[in-house]
Amino acid sequence: MIDQPLILVINCGSSSLKFALIEPSQGYCELDGIAENLASPQAIIRWSHHQQEHQKAIADGAHSEAGQGIIELLEKVQLRSRVVAIGHRVVHGGKRFSESVLIDEAVTAAVEACSSLAPLHNPANLVGIEVTTQYFPGLPQVAVFDTAFHQSMTEQAFLYALPLSLYRDHGVRRYGFHGTSFRYVSAQATRQLSLKADDHGLVIAHLGNGASACAVHNGKSVDTTMGLTPLEGLVMGTRSGNIDPGLLLFLHQRCHYSIEEIDSLLNKRSGLLGLSELSNDMRTLEDAADKGNTQADLAIRVFCYQLAKQLAGLMTAIPRCDGLIFTGGIGENSRRVRHETVQHLGSLGWAIDPDANLSNGESNQGKIHQSDSPIIAVIATDEELMIAKDVVTLTNSQQR
Ligand code: AMP
Repeated sequence: MIDQPLILVINCGSSSLKFALIEPSQGYCELDGIAENLASPQAIIRWSHHQQEHQKAIADGAHSEAGQGIIELLEKVQLRSRVVAIGHRVVHGGKRFSESVLIDEAVTAAVEACSSLAPLHNPANLVGIEVTTQYFPGLPQVAVFDTAFHQSMTEQAFLYALPLSLYRDHGVRRYGFHGTSFRYVSAQATRQLSLKADDHGLVIAHLGNGASACAVHNGKSVDTTMGLTPLEGLVMGTRSGNIDPGLLLFLHQRCHYSIEEIDSLLNKRSGLLGLSELSNDMRTLEDAADKGNTQADLAIRVFCYQLAKQLAGLMTAIPRCDGLIFTGGIGENSRRVRHETVQHLGSLGWAIDPDANLSNGESNQGKIHQSDSPIIAVIATDEELMIAKDVVTLTNSQQR
């Protein structure tokens, strides 16, 4: 068998660098891993290859040393020469990017210009681009934006009811995130559920440690739960999701919280973790709730209720909802979350089949609904494969 070309997919954070080698035509992952705790004594690269887990310490190594370590590892397993192009997950593309693009100087400048909208993420994504440019000079690189899929939202969905000058002067609006996942899952759902490409509506719940939901009309995002930042919307692992904006004033004026304390409270200490005072991890909470931990149980109940409420809201964004799709680590695996969420949607005609739900939708095209309910399905997301496919499309069009 001829060795197929591989796409290197990079997701670079402020202290981590996730990488995956994807074979895009068959859609399999040859090797994946993460360099984490970068620029600290605990810096380490972990990777998985042929179902074997490996790791290598790179004490005090930063992103550049991680790049060097990844190159050495790819050489050792004789995969470096098969890498033909690189795809980068970039968190914020602002209004400028409604689709993936080949990276050049103008693109990196535009990503930098969007940094004010994602000050923790975009600078890290740029570091990732720098590192791969250093170690793979000359290879084409593509930026795939979390926000791009939602650029099809109209003003009525993306504007906040604030003075319009904030939008005009500072770009204050809802952008939405997880777009690469929603794009992949909506295309997959359309195929898998035999929906008409030009006449269907879906609501997709991407439930991972970060969580958001999206209303999709004929393959385009028409509304989503995240906003200017990934803090708006659903209850998440450590993020609060929707709160009364007046709470910020209350915390500042009455409780004397600083801006930094409010930031940390809402982003890092709220959500499932804040409510349960135990963990941000749904599996841990389900285990604890099963053993009688009432606070873990409460956190899951709030998660499901808020999710159902916002899913119902998203159904108003599409003329007809043909399918409710669950994806992400929680969406794909938590029977309880799917069951409880759909129970709250009973008055709208949604009903889950308990047996199909138990199997995580592993048969019957992922479908887990009762016969008299609209479609409810579990469809696994694959953001890395979506990024790799975008890389192939853009590099092929460049060669034409
Ligand atoms: P992700 O960010 O998409 O990797 O999803 C991570 C979340 O999925 C965590 O909250 C995990 O606890 C949750 N998760 C993964 N597997 C299960 C499972 N079998 N049951 C419940 N939650 C799960």
